[in-house]
Amino acid sequence: MKNKSSFYRHVAQTSDAPMGLEVERAEGPFIYTTDGKRYLDFISGIAVSSLGHCHPRVIEAVKKQVNRHLHVMVYGEFIQEPQAAYAELLNAQLPDSLDRVYFVNSGTEANEGALKLAKKHTGRHKFVGFRHGYHGDTHGSLSVTGRDVYRDPYLPLLPDVYFADFNGEDALPLIDEQTAAVILEPIQGEGGIIPADKKWLKAVRQRCDEVGALLIFDEIQTGFYRTGSLFAFQKYQVVPDILCLAKAMAGGMPMGAFVSSSEIFTSFMHDPPLNHVTTFGGHPVSCAAAHATLSELLDKDFASRAATIEEVTRNQLNAEGIVEVRGRGAMLGMELESSELTQHVVKDCLERGIILGWTLHSNTLVRLAPPLIIDKDLLAEALGIINKRIRSRTE
Ligand code: PMP
Repeated sequence: MKNKSSFYRHVAQTSDAPMGLEVERAEGPFIYTTDGKRYLDFISGIAVSSLGHCHPRVIEAVKKQVNRHLHVMVYGEFIQEPQAAYAELLNAQLPDSLDRVYFVNSGTEANEGALKLAKKHTGRHKFVGFRHGYHGDTHGSLSVTGRDVYRDPYLPLLPDVYFADFNGEDALPLIDEQTAAVILEPIQGEGGIIPADKKWLKAVRQRCDEVGALLIFDEIQTGFYRTGSLFAFQKYQVVPDILCLAKAMAGGMPMGAFVSSSEIFTSFMHDPPLNHVTTFGGHPVSCAAAHATLSELLDKDFASRAATIEEVTRNQLNAEGIVEVRGRGAMLGMELESSELTQHVVKDCLERGIILGWTLHSNTLVRLAPPLIIDKDLLAEALGIINKRIRSRTE
């Protein structure tokens, strides 16, 4: 009771209708609340807990690092073993052109860094983003986010930002010799789970190369096997100049990163030195957690897990009222025929112990992003309940 009143009275709110579950603990795919209920987390804390909650390997790494040291110095000055070891492991998974990583604390901070790096490297300040793209809520990331309803209250934002249709023809002519960078999600998340077309993405890459613009992939939501490969760009066979990461990266600890080439990153080192710094970026506990997370992901067959989740979900969700199931791997969206139905289904499922949600830019799409560790029976049971709740409203 006390926590509830403090939450509603003292914690700044982001809407007038928070879900308000009071968390006791979380483990695997489940969250347990103080009223004795158990919920299946079918959105993974929004694409974070891909390994489930409190994965033992992550917890062990965190405990070990907590007993060694916490923060010791701002980013980039001292050699810290968890940071160096994780950077090496991450870069080993990436193409040669993505050989250096800058650690930050969140997704939006990764995008901020990427935009600044592109400006500094190219000496240009024009950006091209995409309608319904989402890149975070700080000013730079919001400037390249393609939804006016979220931008308008904060205008003026960065000047010289232009938006094109995702997968549309109008993108290529917008990318020119003045463009510092193009920023996009290979699969738009908050915009409604919309995969990029492979040919289109290749054409964007080619156009960037022609005019000397950098290509930034925001893989904050798509990264770490969520879509079936370690990173979505690998399936598309289109390599970005800057890759932005966060969310599932550190198994539930806060962390983000932007990865690029050594050559591009040299522009951060001078004119003036220390022109982009962060106090907590690459926190040793987050890096230790990230190392454990990536090691676990690489040791087990997570690509096939994401593929199985997609296959089972697509096969099983068949209630009347479902317009479409789209996405890749375990980053799926279920489009329903109306916003009322969507609201009812999300609410009904929550009452029956399944946490679902919307994406930010769509009110008819139910987000389906279960932890990648979910077992087949539990997945089938949850999908059965979701089907039933939809049917109860449509038949
Ligand atoms: N980019 C994408 C694609 C995201 O999905 C998100 C978070 N939903 C962000 C950026 C922002 O990340 P954060 O909330 O960690 O700042």
